[in-house]
Amino acid sequence: MPDEGANIQKELNPLANAERQFDEAAARLNLPEGLKEVIKRPRRATIVSLPVHMDDGSIRVFTGYRVQHSIVRGPAKGGIRYHPQVTLAEVSALAAWMTWKCAVVNIPFGGGKGGIACDPDRLSRGELERLTRRYAADLSDLFGPESDVPAPDVNTNDQVMAWIVDTYSMHERRTEYAVVTGKPLEVGGSAGRREATGRGVLLCVREACAHLKLPLRDARVAVQGFGNVGSVAADLMARDGAKIVAVSDVTGAIHDPAGLDVPALLAHVAKQRGVAGFPGARPLTGSIIEHDCDILVPAALENQITPENAPRVKARIVAEGANGPTTPDADKLLERKGIMVIPDILCNSGGVTVSYFEWVQNRMGLYWPEHEVNQRLEEIMVPAFRDVLAKSVEHGVSLRVAAFMVAIERVVKVIMLRGLYA
Ligand code: NAD
Repeated sequence: MPDEGANIQKELNPLANAERQFDEAAARLNLPEGLKEVIKRPRRATIVSLPVHMDDGSIRVFTGYRVQHSIVRGPAKGGIRYHPQVTLAEVSALAAWMTWKCAVVNIPFGGGKGGIACDPDRLSRGELERLTRRYAADLSDLFGPESDVPAPDVNTNDQVMAWIVDTYSMHERRTEYAVVTGKPLEVGGSAGRREATGRGVLLCVREACAHLKLPLRDARVAVQGFGNVGSVAADLMARDGAKIVAVSDVTGAIHDPAGLDVPALLAHVAKQRGVAGFPGARPLTGSIIEHDCDILVPAALENQITPENAPRVKARIVAEGANGPTTPDADKLLERKGIMVIPDILCNSGGVTVSYFEWVQNRMGLYWPEHEVNQRLEEIMVPAFRDVLAKSVEHGVSLRVAAFMVAIERVVKVIMLRGLYA
């Protein structure tokens, strides 16, 4: 008898999921086995032990990771996550997704990801800074504008990036901003970076609506997660005339069939630190994933759309703001229902695209106004969406498989031109 618990665990394992998505797309490209293996495996994985002086005088040792999945198309690019459940497997999966994400939008980066197993809520600001600096110092051989460029991820932010700039710069004996992206504006950050991922979600949704002939004006949208990605996506879609009928975050879920007043909700969240209790909306008792809407934007965590709830998803478009919100089996169920899933590696790639602009601006020493950043973002994301859609139509496959096919082909093309030093 199959072990159901083991199957569920496997379905929720990000590395297994990333490999399954890769295998399905690679199988359609008739790549030689050896080459497939070369591009599937992470190029380099580093584990470091990080001693930190704690405020109470004790010493604690944390474990940090950095995985460079690929540097074939350019420096490894990808965030650093602080979370108690960070593991090498999780970081490896996230690093691989970064390779495919950068290739799908055709920016000159490979893929990487880092993390430290820690609970930042239980660390003081001083402890967090010492931990960050020790991590940056230990990995400063790997990091660098030409080799490996980190960014924020879950529980890290622009302050953490500023500490990394400073640590790296002290070791290099000169200021080097281009070593990380997602920095504060005053420390070499880019205009438009904070909004970039949500803006990219909007650009993809516009394209998807045009393809499905579903007007975005008055379309009903449900957004899971009202943080950086979800709140900006909701705000921009509302400005395009969509009705944001439901949103959720860790504090709860609310809905209004007539459409929420998003600017008022943003002000409420800034004050109350959550969507719960927003006046003028009713609490949502059911699952936001199953809410009656035209467009569903999962923008919180991995594994939110599962085989259990996928049959009850009502949206016509699922725009994956989060990384890995749909499990592979759930993906198949959505596909069978005719729901268009805009895959994470395309849908949330606005963030890494503007990170690329930040890196370019740092290296030029010339900074663009926000309207120029937004214009350039559109010039990258709209063709990327169209490339993926064309591949999906040509091969009769989902947008996810098509996005992986586009990305893998781009990586393989560079390997073929450069040749393998093997
Ligand atoms: P964030 O911390 O700003 O926001 C996360 C939101 O999700 C918060 O509102 C939180 O309350 C909510 N949330 C957490 N658990 C929830 C749950 N169980 N149900 C409902 N809501 C829940 O994070 P973010 O930067 O917006 O990132 C969200 C997702 O987007 C992550 O998967 C992240 O990897 C991905 N992503 C972010 C960026 C970026 O530039 N910020 C880029 C690409 C991908």
